[in-house]
Amino acid sequence: MVDETFVTEMNEKALGGGRVSDEEAYRLADAPVEAVVEAADEIRERNMGDGVDTCSIVNAKSGGCAEDCGFCAQSAHFDTEVDRYGYLEPDEILDAAKRAEADGANRFGIVVAERGINKEKRPEEFEKVLESVRRIRDETGIEPDASLGLITEEEAEELVEAGLKHFNHNIETAPSFFDNVVTTHDFEDRVRAIEVAQDAGMRVCAGVIFGMGEDTEHRVEAALALRDIDVDTVPVNVLNPVPGTPFEDYSKITVEEILQGVALYRFIMPEKVIRLTGGREKNLKDRQGEVLRAGANGLLIGDYLTTEGQEADRDEEMIESVGMEIQDVEGKT
Ligand code: SF4
Repeated sequence: MVDETFVTEMNEKALGGGRVSDEEAYRLADAPVEAVVEAADEIRERNMGDGVDTCSIVNAKSGGCAEDCGFCAQSAHFDTEVDRYGYLEPDEILDAAKRAEADGANRFGIVVAERGINKEKRPEEFEKVLESVRRIRDETGIEPDASLGLITEEEAEELVEAGLKHFNHNIETAPSFFDNVVTTHDFEDRVRAIEVAQDAGMRVCAGVIFGMGEDTEHRVEAALALRDIDVDTVPVNVLNPVPGTPFEDYSKITVEEILQGVALYRFIMPEKVIRLTGGREKNLKDRQGEVLRAGANGLLIGDYLTTEGQEADRDEEMIESVGMEIQDVEGKT
């Protein structure tokens, strides 16, 4: 076990603008969790202030996905009870964006259950995505975001032209653990999609899911990969096992493991938005605020893709109870 002196040393390094090396990050994973959490809170406060960035999503196309991500209720490979529907009408997306804005979200993500939105195969669907983005830009004050899977350079450019400046594509887990989660595409496919979005000028939100059988070292490995890719915001989901998926019987990871994971992410990426997302209510219950005091400074609010979230008022109360406040930390683009 690494002692607290090392945590203090790393804290001073991070506060002084230094970069924790890969080796130091792995050593921190072996340090007392309480000390790491306390230091991560200080790094967040000093570097990012007390603002909590909020976003919300809509499941714009649900179920029947050809990929086999083991955690996902929407994969056609598994027998789950998820709704199946094609891409919603832009009017419906717009209504959802307005609701998210009223709930206090800073960003609104259009999410499709697909390996990738595909202009060549489904031109009408792609056109509807573009229209949704344009209308969110023109008719609301919320910033559009989208999670459209693997996209081509041409698609990325058209999306940017329509007004999309934020793109989500999670790496899900560590490169060395990826094959335990997905077999229909590989880690490099995911990284390529992120690079395509970055090259087109979009800010990228890319993160992970904790609790899929990985260990602390895998969580650190994933954070180091995200740092290398230079993503802008990092969603941290915690697995909420869905009946019918291969991960349905996975036992929950502990709250301490979640706090430790988030705190290590803050050490590794001291100036990024680290966002607590899916699975937070189920896994953390009334301890969600502790994650905001362990280095996180973002929250996905409202409902998730296939499960319900808690009410916006309760989130606001929770944020205030830990001395933080909703703020557009990422800023408008
Ligand atoms: S996570 Fe996305 S790509 Fe994977 S099965 Fe679910 S919808 Fe498809």
